[in-house]
Amino acid sequence: MSAYDKLEDWISKQNPGQDEYLQAIREIARDVIDVYEANESYKKYDVLRRLCMPERIIHFTVTWLNDNQEVEINQGWRVQHSGLIGPYKGGLRFHPTVNESILKFLAFEQCFKNALTGMPIGGAKGGADFDPRGRSEAEVMRFCQAFMIELQHHIGPNTDVPAGDINVGAREIGFLYGEYRGIHNLFSGTLTGKGLSFGGSHVRTEATGFGLIYMLRAVLAHQGKKINGLVLGVSGAGNVAMHAALKGIQLGAKVISLSNSRGCLEYPEGFREQDIEWAIDNKPDHKNVLTALQDKIGGTWHDNKTPWHLKMDVALPCATQNELDETDAKALMQNGVNYVLEGANMPCTDEARQRFEDNQIVYVPGKAANAGGVAISGLEMSQNAGFQRDSFDQIDESLQQIMQTIHDQMIEDGTKDGKVNYARGANIAGFRRLADAMVAQGI
Ligand code: GLU
Repeated sequence: MSAYDKLEDWISKQNPGQDEYLQAIREIARDVIDVYEANESYKKYDVLRRLCMPERIIHFTVTWLNDNQEVEINQGWRVQHSGLIGPYKGGLRFHPTVNESILKFLAFEQCFKNALTGMPIGGAKGGADFDPRGRSEAEVMRFCQAFMIELQHHIGPNTDVPAGDINVGAREIGFLYGEYRGIHNLFSGTLTGKGLSFGGSHVRTEATGFGLIYMLRAVLAHQGKKINGLVLGVSGAGNVAMHAALKGIQLGAKVISLSNSRGCLEYPEGFREQDIEWAIDNKPDHKNVLTALQDKIGGTWHDNKTPWHLKMDVALPCATQNELDETDAKALMQNGVNYVLEGANMPCTDEARQRFEDNQIVYVPGKAANAGGVAISGLEMSQNAGFQRDSFDQIDESLQQIMQTIHDQMIEDGTKDGKVNYARGANIAGFRRLADAMVAQGI
């Protein structure tokens, strides 16, 4: 049995039925197994198996009252995967599909992503199976407060610093933070993504989407190319998708799509900067931002379709895990796609990723391409710790530098026989940092 097969057998037995978690582990393990096997200390300290196990999983019940004064019950989690290189750090997701497997995969990925930023932040993820769709603001607030009553036992500025993720934005972070502050009588950086008036950082809202485009620019520059005039297909209509679209347009690309769970809005002439800015500013007023956008500017709606059947140079999946499968990958390649950069976490299935790799399509995994968000969260933590605030331009400049450094790390660890494999580079660079910290800290 090969070392990889042995590990694969063990993790499958440890995590039965947790498909997303197993998918995330396999993806990294395949790339790092040789690095592990070649290092006596890594083997002696059993670092690979240990990195595949979350340090702690907290599972709790959230009980709250809806607007009809009826009792509602949800499940909440915080997966504290690794505190090796800093306080646990990662977002909270509120979505009916949330379960332990999904949060475990997200926390695991987050460790490698956070390691790649070079900052002292460990990896975690949390959330609840709560569906905020159709809920009043008062209901969302009461849910956030009930969720925090449980979560507050386990977090703190030097322990675990949650942030947003799908359906957890500035509004929810505000409610969560208000409850935390109320309970602890403490103004601290315990959450990131806070409002600017109470310790939030400039550029945090924009960071994931902007960072994705900065990464694309770095990848192109490495090949002596420019973003100007390229056609970008974006999926999703949330914070990441909108800010990726905005920065792409600002840097001279043509963004031809956005999407949601009901379908895809195609805009062949390319959205204009003011269209996306309007969508970002008006989002809270609209149940469906894409319908509102189409009412305003036109475009073609493709019911129940993703953007992956459209012709584009660059695919930017910014919606959710496993949103782009093998059939989509084939369609994209038939239409001449050259670059795939993940704005979401693990949006490409294993088979899709494999297709891109086999066909020499440049593929940059989420743990590197979307690391801009958590990196600016790291800067928010240090601004809070120092009771100071940097300007928008300073943080935007830092974001560009961080994305460039992550890019260069991937080139360093992912180049073999003159060929760059960004996914392998990201996995090896993140793994080395975590494994070295694990060896240094003993058993
Ligand atoms: N949820 C984001 C991510 O997937 C941000 C996490 C954070 O800022 O802590 O990286």
